[in-house]
Amino acid sequence: MTMTNSNKFYVTTSIPYANAKPHLGHAMEFIEADVIARWHRLRGDDVLLQIGTDEHGQKLFEAATEAGQDPAEFVRSMSQTFVELASENRLNITYDQFIRTTDTAHKSAAQQLWQACAKDIYKGEYGGLYCTACERYYTEKEAVEGKCPIHPNRTLEELKMESYFLKLEPYQKQLTELIKSDEYKVFPALRKNEILSFLENNQLEDLSISRPKTHLEWGVEVPDDPSHVMYVWFDALANYVTGIGYGTDNERFNTYWPADLHIIGKDISRFHAVYWPIMLLSAGIVTPKALYVHGFINAPGGVKMSKSLGNSIEPDVIIDTYGTDALRYYLLRYIPHDSDGEFGKERFHAVYTADLANDLGNLVSRVAAMSMKYNDAKFESVPVQKLEIDELIKRCANDKALAHIFARIVEQNQAIENAKPWQLYKEDPARAIEVLNQIISNILEVAVSLQPFLPDTATKILRTFHDGQIDTSVGILFPKVDDVN
Ligand SMILES: [Zn+2]
Repeated sequence: MTMTNSNKFYVTTSIPYANAKPHLGHAMEFIEADVIARWHRLRGDDVLLQIGTDEHGQKLFEAATEAGQDPAEFVRSMSQTFVELASENRLNITYDQFIRTTDTAHKSAAQQLWQACAKDIYKGEYGGLYCTACERYYTEKEAVEGKCPIHPNRTLEELKMESYFLKLEPYQKQLTELIKSDEYKVFPALRKNEILSFLENNQLEDLSISRPKTHLEWGVEVPDDPSHVMYVWFDALANYVTGIGYGTDNERFNTYWPADLHIIGKDISRFHAVYWPIMLLSAGIVTPKALYVHGFINAPGGVKMSKSLGNSIEPDVIIDTYGTDALRYYLLRYIPHDSDGEFGKERFHAVYTADLANDLGNLVSRVAAMSMKYNDAKFESVPVQKLEIDELIKRCANDKALAHIFARIVEQNQAIENAKPWQLYKEDPARAIEVLNQIISNILEVAVSLQPFLPDTATKILRTFHDGQIDTSVGILFPKVDDVN
């Protein structure tokens, strides 16, 4: 019997490389995935949100050695920092599954995926310019004065080694069509165009997909050749199918695959828009439905954020001072969904104070207080206009969706200033109560719309105005924070 599951929604984040603790970029990607997962759940869909950590490779082996730890122990503790960041009292990510590429089930399933691609895999020799930090080769053209284009202080090494290769060229035309037709929808449009232009102007070279064990030990063994381990990208990309049962639980795999949405950063778009779908085509597996590519978070002035520059901000530091929803709000609203954005403590503080503490927080507490006073802690819902943000959420345009919701919030504050219920009540109490009821209904509409974005805040607002009764026990939504620290 074939199970149909027409309202399933399988969404993934990329799996962060577990060689360092999470940064704001990881937090943003987790939150973006959480928004779409929550939104689908609210519609009654059968959602599966998978996050996880990528735990193999030379860079990781080096980081473990540097920390004086066994690699298995090192990745376990690093992975745990991502689990903690995703937890309810940190980012509040409602993931269904956390995959680690060192899981036994993943390793054997990755080997099965390799075997499914066997007809396109051959052994050869690879030579070229290699960055050990990226764990990939660059062409002469891509190198910047002999250095890595991503790591300006890493000199690329001239490296020759035996390697297995995956033929890409046989699938180039088919992949180009899939992307062009949006059957594999890459968005925003800028990213789709970048990939199409790459596919149309280059003949794909075969992809090196293994490393000799003499060069790298920390990885998944190549089936039938214990002298090689899989190139970390082959192993890592496989997580999207191994996590839902490929090779181990076919019923579950068939229920959730193809992925409805992969969410990734722009630095790894080629891996996800070219290599990954070709691996699948080679293995005879249908390609994912969509790929959303987000930009980077920079420091103020567009400067790259990094630990070594001392301008990076840990997500935990912001959450400790301002709370989970404040961080979620800033990353969703002020990092544009279709380009890079900036994060600085001063700007964050200003946004927190203006949008959250003043516009939203004060609105809720003022309206609740006035209804307590003038309407005996009661309200009556009146019909409201629904906010039209579904299309924006579907294409991960969270910045625009939140701008829309917050414009509605500003309107309510304006309506209070215009109507002045505290004066109106003296002249026409029935009319004052009518005004308050209308505003409460609009606030409820805002709260419902905010559910996927700021879940805790939405719940508090819905509790404040519940079933015709005002309940202020949830307290202040966004307490004033005095200074930028
Ligand atoms: Zn590099």
